[in-house]
Amino acid sequence: MIGDMENNTEEIFNSTGMVTNIERYAINDGFGLRTTVFLKGCPIRCKWCSNPETQKLYPEMVFFSDKCIDCGECRRRCIYGGLKNGLNADRTVCERCFERENAFACVNKCYPQCRKIAGKEMTVKEVSDIVKRDMPFYQLSGGGVTVSGGEPLAQPKFAYSLLLVLKKLYINTAIETCGMGKEEDFAAIAPYLNLAFMDLKSVDKEKHLSWTGSDNDNILHNIVAMDGLSAEYGFDLILRTPVIPGFNDSLADIRHIGEFVTKNFKNYKGMELLPYHKLGRGKYISLGRNYELKELTPPSDEKMEELNQILYDMGINLYQF
Ligand code: SF4
Ligand code: SF4
Ligand code: SF4
Repeated sequence: MIGDMENNTEEIFNSTGMVTNIERYAINDGFGLRTTVFLKGCPIRCKWCSNPETQKLYPEMVFFSDKCIDCGECRRRCIYGGLKNGLNADRTVCERCFERENAFACVNKCYPQCRKIAGKEMTVKEVSDIVKRDMPFYQLSGGGVTVSGGEPLAQPKFAYSLLLVLKKLYINTAIETCGMGKEEDFAAIAPYLNLAFMDLKSVDKEKHLSWTGSDNDNILHNIVAMDGLSAEYGFDLILRTPVIPGFNDSLADIRHIGEFVTKNFKNYKGMELLPYHKLGRGKYISLGRNYELKELTPPSDEKMEELNQILYDMGINLYQF
């Protein structure tokens, strides 16, 4: 049980996790100015995911061709044949390159930095040393640190240790989670949270399966459990629904979600509907992956208003970060 580590300071500070990014001055990931720590690894595969570089638990090479000056250094350095057919790597060769002796040799001399590694192993101490530099901003703005991903609880020991350390530093903490994971891991992090954003993508099991690769049984169970934990430990719980055309954007879809919420949640603060966007599309290309939703159009403002109105009429508090 990760909760048993609570008094082992050395183990907590030395816990390592795979981090993709630490973003400062974030304004959409909770109250006030925040630093968002993106962890790698996610147990589900949402077709609309805007952070595909966070899905796998291990480091990957990303390539943004628009900055490439065609110097050829990467081709000369890769001895595994990943670039033998051109600058767009053969991803079947690149898979798990981090395990090789000359791991990611293609990246090292790419001076324009259009080839990078997504995912870096860091200790809790290293992350906390970075995020605490912005303490004055947190204090002035009512902000703090948000642990995001990927799914933070894909690395439960690291997420737990980081949240615990942040709390001991009196830093306001938030987590963004898809809700998939072990119930005991959610219970372990609950005492160290000020705010939890939990996804409630759909209450329809089959749709959830076909659009995310996983059904929603475990997720629905965990978010309801977190409603109880929010009362026990005094953190705010906000449910988030990404509105994806064709998946959950009908009036009936949102009404079903609202009915599930009003029936099962007693202590949560409210909900936020997030309109689908295409901002992550370039990242799929950088990973050599196919973006399935090329033809999808984001919902209009009018449509979002209509969907929000349904929840509002059901007595649900609405947030917009
Ligand atoms: S090393 Fe970088 S800039 Fe040079 S060819 Fe490779 S990707 Fe392009
Ligand atoms: S990730 Fe590895 S295999 Fe792929 S191009 Fe770079 S060095 Fe070669
Ligand atoms: S839960 Fe989040 S990180 Fe995981 S696949 Fe879905 S959108 Fe991406």
